Order: sequence, then structure tokens, then C-alpha cells
Amino acid sequence: MMNNPLIDFSGLPRYETITPADVTPAIATLLEQCRTVVARIENNSEAAHWENVITPLEDATESLSRAWDLVSHLHSVCDTPELRAVYNENQPLITEFYTALGQNLVLYKKYLALQSSAEYSGYSAARKKIIQNALRDFKLSGAELSDDKKLRYAQIQEQLAKLSNTFSEHLLDATNHYSLHITDVAELGGLPDDAILAAQTRAQQAGRDGYLFGLQFPSFFPILQYADNRALRATVYRANATKASELGENPEWDNTEIMNQILALRSEEAQLLGYPSFADVSLVAKMADSPQQVTDFLLDLASRARPFAERDLAELRLFASQNLGLDDLQAHDITYASEKLREQRYAFSDQEVKQYFPEPQVILGLFKIVKTLYGVDISPDSASTWHPDVKFYRIEKHGRLIGQFYLDLYARQSKDGGAWMNNARSRRLTADGLQTPLAYLVCNFTPPARDKPAYFTHDEVITLFHEFGHGLHHMLTEVDELGVSGLSGVEWDAVELPSQFMENFCWEWEVLQQMSAHCDSNQPLPRELYDKMLAAKNFQSGLQTLRQVEFSLFDLQLHNGYLEQSRLSVQGLLNQVREQVAVLRAPDFNRFQHGFSHIFSGGYAAGYFSYKWAEVLSADAYAAFEEAGDNAGTGIKFHREILAVGGSRPALESFIAFRGRPPEIDALLRHSGMTS
Ligand SMILES: [Zn+2]
Repeated sequence: MMNNPLIDFSGLPRYETITPADVTPAIATLLEQCRTVVARIENNSEAAHWENVITPLEDATESLSRAWDLVSHLHSVCDTPELRAVYNENQPLITEFYTALGQNLVLYKKYLALQSSAEYSGYSAARKKIIQNALRDFKLSGAELSDDKKLRYAQIQEQLAKLSNTFSEHLLDATNHYSLHITDVAELGGLPDDAILAAQTRAQQAGRDGYLFGLQFPSFFPILQYADNRALRATVYRANATKASELGENPEWDNTEIMNQILALRSEEAQLLGYPSFADVSLVAKMADSPQQVTDFLLDLASRARPFAERDLAELRLFASQNLGLDDLQAHDITYASEKLREQRYAFSDQEVKQYFPEPQVILGLFKIVKTLYGVDISPDSASTWHPDVKFYRIEKHGRLIGQFYLDLYARQSKDGGAWMNNARSRRLTADGLQTPLAYLVCNFTPPARDKPAYFTHDEVITLFHEFGHGLHHMLTEVDELGVSGLSGVEWDAVELPSQFMENFCWEWEVLQQMSAHCDSNQPLPRELYDKMLAAKNFQSGLQTLRQVEFSLFDLQLHNGYLEQSRLSVQGLLNQVREQVAVLRAPDFNRFQHGFSHIFSGGYAAGYFSYKWAEVLSADAYAAFEEAGDNAGTGIKFHREILAVGGSRPALESFIAFRGRPPEIDALLRHSGMTS
């Protein structure tokens, strides 16, 4: 046991020595340690102090979460059946421990005692914030409830977990079961070769001739986007828009009742906790204050975007009628006609742009702008990793180490899709000295061909900058307290500020010049192509904004007691929101909500608005750089007021400290091309 690499926290993780067999004994040991520590704190009759409550609790749970984060990380970047088995075996034990911790009344009272102790007023802002956050989380976990209500609360959580899981299983089954068989390639006119080839391969794998399409995004979307065959587009649009609903293929996968039950349980949970609605519960730990404030924000955004959305739609109708012979533009024509309009108007391809972004040049450009903004140096470092393609770097300021990160860029089998930043170790001042942060930065870009560097699309470059923004938030923190250093304790609807903020630099001419080199000529991105990219950036941004507002408002009202008051069904409410917001009305059969997994099986319930909310913050923050015209000077301030302070104070305070005023929506509108 002493040699178990998962419980060795002395240095960087030793990936090459970790095996699936280490997981269960390590987690058992660490959970046991945590329970012992919790019991010792509970049974301590001395007065509560930071040192006899929070320090031992943080020490124990930090070890547990570092080990578990490492296991989860390996599970997502190099999964094996053995690893998956031990992951699934231990996951419920971790959840069970944290649920019990959240409801621990004795611990809750210790935190309350700390808050009213004489030493509280002498605590740093960071320590006060940690205590406030903990008290809030205890309350939201039901620590204050009577025993019978605690039991009901636990039942609700358990049922909600099951229902969310059923919701996604229905969706997955409905998605996977659908198949559309085409025998005549002539029916697939307009589709790119790779989409046709993929459908042919799919058919062959199923032992059939011709072409098979499914409801997975990469399979059906090219039909909506490119198929000249209108009837085919209509068939696929309808199949996708009705999946997992009462209009779908199989009534067993209908999510209607699941959604009703989830909403009723969330409403009951809110009442148990003493809040008017689940939306109020959701907003307690967010930057937004009240459902009314969020509603006002969304309706304001909708009214500003509306004229642009109407213009987008009018242009599309005219184009479709004049160029495509589509006089009655239908839902299944929108994506197709939009793609044709985009091609005609901007005349460049992703492939053309991609030739300018070789990996070494992009990484160099990224590190350079980070150096300009925050005065930090990034250089290669060495460490044990989980795959030969993974690179490791260190960040220094004035020659002093402040953080390190792993960069795992390429897609490969047994690695989850998407891109993310994850925390491997957080900054914390301990009795042994300063612990520096460690981060995972993971993407799924196309790996390099033999003897050549990898080339990135502009979207991929943006993704890299986005995740790196999260990484900088984690690594450039100057907070010494674990609970609020880096992203810890930052409000959910403000977490995307530093990441979306970094994306802006992917559109700066100077930055692009430094990070581009054509594969043949080695020349940087030419002005002409750059201008086309800029022009295409805000294509149909009015329509897209209204779509996001429609989803956000629907989500909020769904959780805001609206159904109970209005006696509307979920569908009735969605119709009403569409009536209020959309310029492009979805057809009556559209059951988008039956597949809205963000809010029914993800963590976004009454929080979908966070995307747009954080975009206001990031656009307005970037506008400060545009106004000053001085990346270095403004960067120092952004670092000091936003990145360095992490979760040690409310995000709104940090924003005001940086910007000198509360956030305003103007920059977002301007960056989206929605100003007259
Ligand atoms: Zn993000």
C-alpha cells in the first residue's frame, strides 16, 4: 500500500507506474482517512478554529480529490475496460461521501460557530469567502432540514439522478436506433464526398448495400447543410426534431413524462429548502441575483437582436427565392440555404485557412500573447505523462515557478471527445510551503501526418485559446487558500469570462500574423483572407442570438414556477416563448425540448443563460483592451483584478474593480455585428 502511486502526493503524478489495480485500494484508504478526520472534528469539544476544522478537512479531502481527479482524468484520456470497471465501482463511493459531508449537521454547526467567533473578523477576505460558500452549500444540500425532510431530500436527489439518466438513455436509444437507408447515390446530390463515404462505410459495416444515415450529428447534419434533395432534408429534419418524443419512432423512448417528473421534483426540492422556485435555488451560487434580473437581461438582448435577426431572415428568404427556387422557405431549408448564402458571400473555405496554422507556430503565438498580457514565460518542461504525444510546460514569472501544465492536443481512440481544462493540483500555501498549480489542457485536434506538423483550423485555434484561458485562470491565481484559489468558488455564470476573453485574440491581426505560416510558402495569413474571415465571423448572428435567448428563456421559465401558475404544459410554455422571442418559428411538430439534455440531464437547469451572461462579461472586458490600445498595461490589470483573485471575492466585484463600472452589453452587440 505504501507504494501505491495514487496516494503519493510528494511530486508530479507518476503516470507510468499507475495501474487500474491501484485505484480501489487507494480510494478506500483515502475515504477511510477522510471519515476518520470528519469524526475527529465532530468529536472535538474544543471551540472551533480554522486550524481544527477547515485545515484538517481540506487536507483530507484535497488528497481524496487529487487522487480521484487523476483517475477521472485517465478515464477520459486513455480509457481501458479495466480502468472503466474500477472507475464505475468507485464513483458511487465518492458521491456518497460528499453527499453525507454536505448534510453533516455537526460540521455545519462548526462552520456557523466559526462565522460568529471572535477570530472571524480577523480572517482574510479569502477565508471569509470560504466559510460563506461552505455555509451556503450546507444549506443547499439540506443540512438544516429536519430528519424526515432530509430523508425526502435524499429521495428526491436519488430519483432525479435516475430520471436524468433515463432521459439521456431515451435520447441515446432514439438517436442510435434511427437509420435511413439510401440505395441510389443520385439522391445524395450536393453532399461532400467524405459524408457520402462515411454513409457507405456505415452501410457496409451493417452488411448492407448503399448508404446509411443516422441521427448522430456528423451523420445527419451534412444532409441538412448540403443535400440538394429537399424531400430528403425534410425526412431527416423531422426525424431529428421529434426524437425521444411522443411523435418519435418508439413510444418507449418518449421523454414527455420524464421531463414532467424532473420538473416536479425540482420544484419540490426548492420548496423543501425554502425557496419560491428551482430557479431561485439555481441562482443562489451564481452571479445573477434573481430570475427577474435574468429574464430582463434575456428580453433586452432579444429586443436588440431582433432587427438583425429579421434582416438575416429577409436576406435568406430573398436569396433562397432568387437563387435556389425556394419561395416558401421551410425549417428543413434553413441550414441548406444559409450554407449556400455563406459560400456565395464569403468565398473561402476552412481548408484554405487551415494551411496557415501549423501547430508549432500557433503554440508560439499563444505563448507570446500570454507573455505580452501577463508578463509570464512559458517553456518546455519534463514529466511523466500518459501518452507519448503529451507535452509538458512550466510557467515562470521573473524566473520563479508559478505553475505547470500538460498539453494533450490530438484525437485518439479511448479518449473522450471535445476540449477541456482540468485541475490536477491547485495553488495552496501549506505548512511545507507554496504548492503551485498544475493543469490538464486537452483537445481533440487532427494528429499530424508523418514528417509534418499538425495543422489547425481557425476554429481549433479558438478552442485552444479558450481552454488556455481557463488554464490561466487556474494557474495565474495568487490566492493561497485552496477553497477559493483559481476557479474554485468562482460563480458558474462567470467561469467562462477568462476563456471566452482569450478567444478575442484569435481575431487580432497582429496576433494572427505571429502565429501563422503557410504550409508551402511559410508566409503569414494574407490581409485579403483575414478580411473575409472577419466578414464571415458574424454571419446570421442576429438569428443565432435569438435562438440562444429562446433556449435560455424557456429553461428559466420552466424552472420559475411558471408551469404551476399558468397551468401550461412544457410544450405550451415553449410555444409561448417562441411566440415572444423567435422570428423564425419552429414547426409545430418540433420537439426540441425532448432532447434538451443540458437542462434535463446536465448541470444547466435554470442556468442555460450562463453562456450569454458570461459573453457579456468577456466582450466588455476585451473592450477595455480595445479602448486602451495597450495589451500589456491592460493585461496587468486584468491579471490583478480577475485572474489573480480567483474565487476569493464575488465575480461582480472583480469585474467592477477591473472595468471601473458594472458590465454593459454594448461590446457584445458590437462584436456580434449587431449595432446600427
Ligand atoms: Zn469553457
